[in-house]
Amino acid sequence: MGPRITMKGAGPGPTVLVVEDDQETRAALVRAMVARGYHAVEAGNGTTALQYWAANRPDVVLLDLGLPDMDGLDVIRRIRRDALTPIVILSGRYEEREKVEALERGADDYVTKPFGVDELNARLRVALRRAAGPAADTSGRVVAGPLVLDATRHEVTVGDRLVDLTPREFEILRVLLEHAGRLVTKGRILRAVWGPEYQGEDSYVYVHVSQLRRKLAAADPGGSIRDLIVTEPGVGYRIGGLGAGHGRGADGL
Ligand code: CA
Repeated sequence: MGPRITMKGAGPGPTVLVVEDDQETRAALVRAMVARGYHAVEAGNGTTALQYWAANRPDVVLLDLGLPDMDGLDVIRRIRRDALTPIVILSGRYEEREKVEALERGADDYVTKPFGVDELNARLRVALRRAAGPAADTSGRVVAGPLVLDATRHEVTVGDRLVDLTPREFEILRVLLEHAGRLVTKGRILRAVWGPEYQGEDSYVYVHVSQLRRKLAAADPGGSIRDLIVTEPGVGYRIGGLGAGHGRGADGL
């Protein structure tokens, strides 16, 4: 199978490499990306995608996991060996285990088919923003709307209210904020906050995140902070504020 690379929409926007073997879906994705100002490049299999990636280093990769010539997970591994290029997965509704594995291997996020173009665009924008720079400033402060996490002082404030968090709750929030723009799996939170020997104890994460949310919401009654931590059922959590859910939009693909 020879290389199949098509260049479309040489706009000023970021270059997105669309890797998808289903031709109809791929064409729709490319059209949608071009309409939103991206420079879209398409590949119908993993080999072509990796060739293009190695030679041109696109700004972001949109990757279908089910490819004819190789496992999409291997595409992620190859890219992650050399670079932190944002990777957003296109996945089927029932591929929960694959999604988790893709995220564990370094994918940034996923969208579940069928999805809306606006939702996809929002995910890409967040992933690109994440790639553009670290979330924390040099003083160790991370800001998300009205919330400030001060890593040096071990303090979290919402507006002018100090939020009383346990060390675990503080660490969970820190991990999520440090990975803002990415979907963080429960496994990753467990490893970072509890340690590798706690693998599989997902209920710890669930209980502590619930508590963390409750405390944050209490510090900002009726405010937007209640939407800060978004649950992806069965997978993990992300810092929210995207204004786009995982439902199917009117412009669904
Ligand atoms: Ca496929």
